[in-house]
Amino acid sequence: MPTTTDLPTVAAKRPRVVIVGAGFGGLRVARDLAGKPVHVTLLDQHNYHTFIPLLYQVATAGLEPEEIAQPIRRIIRARNLHFRLARVTDADLERRLVSTDAGDLPYDYLVLAAGSVTNFFGLEGAARTAAGLRDLDDAEQVRDRVLAAFEATALEADAGRRGELMTVVVVGGGPTGVELAGALAELRRHVLPKDHPELDLSRARILLLEATDTLLPGMHERMQRKSLEKLRQMGVEVRLGSVVADADERGVTLRPGERIEAATVVWVAGLKASPLAQTAGAGTSAGGRLVVSETLQVPGHPQVYAIGDMAHAGGPKSRPHPMLAPVAIQQGELVAGNILRQLSGQKPRRFRYKDRGTMVTIGRAAAVARVYGVPVSGFLAWLLWLTVHLVWLVGFRNRVLVLVNWAWNYFTYERGVRLIRRRS
Ligand SMILES: Cc1cc2nc3c(=O)[nH]c(=O)nc-3n(C[C@H](O)[C@H](O)[C@H](O)COP(=O)(O)OP(=O)(O)OC[C@H]3O[C@@H](n4cnc5c(N)ncnc54)[C@H](O)[C@@H]3O)c2cc1C
Repeated sequence: MPTTTDLPTVAAKRPRVVIVGAGFGGLRVARDLAGKPVHVTLLDQHNYHTFIPLLYQVATAGLEPEEIAQPIRRIIRARNLHFRLARVTDADLERRLVSTDAGDLPYDYLVLAAGSVTNFFGLEGAARTAAGLRDLDDAEQVRDRVLAAFEATALEADAGRRGELMTVVVVGGGPTGVELAGALAELRRHVLPKDHPELDLSRARILLLEATDTLLPGMHERMQRKSLEKLRQMGVEVRLGSVVADADERGVTLRPGERIEAATVVWVAGLKASPLAQTAGAGTSAGGRLVVSETLQVPGHPQVYAIGDMAHAGGPKSRPHPMLAPVAIQQGELVAGNILRQLSGQKPRRFRYKDRGTMVTIGRAAAVARVYGVPVSGFLAWLLWLTVHLVWLVGFRNRVLVLVNWAWNYFTYERGVRLIRRRS
């Protein structure tokens, strides 16, 4: 069994802050602690930070994976910040120790920021056969499956099977489902006809299944209506009130029993907290999120914080914050400040989310947004979406690459290299 000596850090005389996860929340904590009188170790299972909001563009061959990822070591350049590539398996809050696949690590302050995973709601067939969209591996898998299915169609003699191969089912009509379905519709309209002149693409179907009676549940009514209109106009078969009973290798079964044959099923119907939340031995709420106080501390462990997707802030009776990057970033900011306050004997501050709005892109020059409470749609919303995501993207190189790619795709109606890396 690895011991602490297996995961060496610079000998720390300063208080040791361990951050689990270099996503939006964890990175913010680390960056805000740069140059401060603490010794910070940032742990992540990957050596890169992923800009998750653009995963759907990798999944639809609009961007390459490396354009939305950034080496963590490049992002955190400060003498008191240290990165270790390690997968955390357990957090022992009593012994003040995190266990990883590279050894154990003691801490004085711990920040749990390991994000979330796809929630298949206990549907075993879906978990086994459907593709999720939570990390770069998932995004590449979706791209590979979609492109490989069209290649397979070109080799298929049976007409029924050809229809099945050219059908993509997206489960979940939240922001990710809307963005993905829109991007797939554009791939079908602008790219696949040039790549596959031999195929009858009028039989290619994109279905978006949503269990409730609206797209973008919980968002502004105008955003819901506009996204539905736009997707239907783009040829996406949006089916509201469609509850998926399960999925398998050949498609999905709806309740009470309708069958849709499809070679590709992408599951974006929900997320739940990283399983790491369960190992902390503290209370969790719906979606497995670790219940923390308004100051984001784990009850009974004032030196342990949880933020972002894996945290439910404000106690079990409060409404959880949405799983959004700005929530994780703002919580990261607060936690860095609170650790420094604790060190100087002050009381930690409470978290208040500043909601500046939400935006969802649907396709070329089409997006819906709510900015400071004002609903916006169409070209203006799309420009806002482009600008915000470019500014938000980590790394100058990536911003340039993404901007060039977007411009290229916009003016040429083209897509990236369209690699098929794995054929399942
Ligand atoms: C497809 C998709 C699109 C989205 N689009 C948007 C959007 O447009 N706008 C928006 O605001 N939000 C969006 N979100 C939500 C947003 O990405 C999350 O709310 C945000 O990433 C949460 O930040 P976090 O720091 O909690 O977790 P993350 O950013 O997910 O970071 C978690 C980090 O922890 C690491 N990690 C996980 N487990 C371990 C472990 N056991 N050991 C070590 N490291 C571990 C991961 O590798 C990762 O780097 C989207 C989410 C998805 C899935």
